[in-house]
Amino acid sequence: QASRVTVLGLGDMGSAIAKTFIDRGHRTTVWNRTVSKALPMVDSGATAAASAAEAAAASPLVVVCLLDGAAVDEVLASVDAAVAGKVLVNLTSSSPHQARANDRWARERGATYLDGKIMGDPADVGTPQVMLSFSGSRKAIDVHGSTLGELGTVTYHGEEAGLAAIEFMAQVAMGYEILIGFLHTLRLVQAEGVDVAEFAERAASSVAALPPLLTSIGNAVKAGEYPPDLGPLNVQAALMDDMISHRESIGVEAVRMREVRDLMNRRIADGFGAQGFSSLFELLTKP
Ligand code: NDP
Repeated sequence: QASRVTVLGLGDMGSAIAKTFIDRGHRTTVWNRTVSKALPMVDSGATAAASAAEAAAASPLVVVCLLDGAAVDEVLASVDAAVAGKVLVNLTSSSPHQARANDRWARERGATYLDGKIMGDPADVGTPQVMLSFSGSRKAIDVHGSTLGELGTVTYHGEEAGLAAIEFMAQVAMGYEILIGFLHTLRLVQAEGVDVAEFAERAASSVAALPPLLTSIGNAVKAGEYPPDLGPLNVQAALMDDMISHRESIGVEAVRMREVRDLMNRRIADGFGAQGFSSLFELLTKP
């Protein structure tokens, strides 16, 4: 159902969001600090407001997508009381702390707050490939979830405003943790004269087998009981020294492998050699 929506911030992501709302028939009001970025949106059918406050006043749903938390603070300060009675949705990538501060800021001005985090490319906004995590007002997601769902696949994490940012930071961090391991692997493969692109294609098939393992590791960590996934540590550790010395012999960095081996050795020394890889979790620092 078409409705009025405001988008504050027309960078790559904000423009993709605004364009999607326009294309789906919403009466869209836009504002951007650099005025020229609003012109293509106006050509597509949006209304450009002269200020962020004027833009916020124009719609019941106000979506913010700016560079970072500092930009959000600056723009919201200029919006101030114009946000009263609105649902404010912040799709800027920032911390759980920032989400909670925005939530308080909105409440103090009689607005309802939803924090949202986007994973995906601007070019894919409007398709299910783009993942959007939300937290904050349940009523807001009930009322505006279908409009927000036009941007991508929506997951609502709960009323505590910081939850979406917690999820976002964990998911993004996991991507980096996995991908740095992949880069180390490509270095190894290349040092052996293997075509890295062809290897990457084969690796993609291997990675497709990982989801069940992630689920079983998650369950093992939650239960604090560690069956011998990937085999018992005693057996796995025997391979580690070979992997490390092989890498070192061909001049390839082995820092990640050493981390794994050291954790395995500590766990074995503590008497847990019959447990699986998931049991290394016990050695990672607790908060
Ligand atoms: P851009 O750099 O393209 O745009 C940044 C936007 O922030 C512009 O509208 C810019 O205005 C505005 N801005 C920056 N500082 C201020 C300020 N002090 N006051 C007012 N406006 C300000 O970034 P994106 O659109 O790509 O990213 C926006 C958000 O979306 C980020 O949090 C990003 O992490 C997130 N995101 C982006 C993805 C991507 O691939 N692009 C993917 C997933 C999330 P101006 O035009 O005047 O400079």
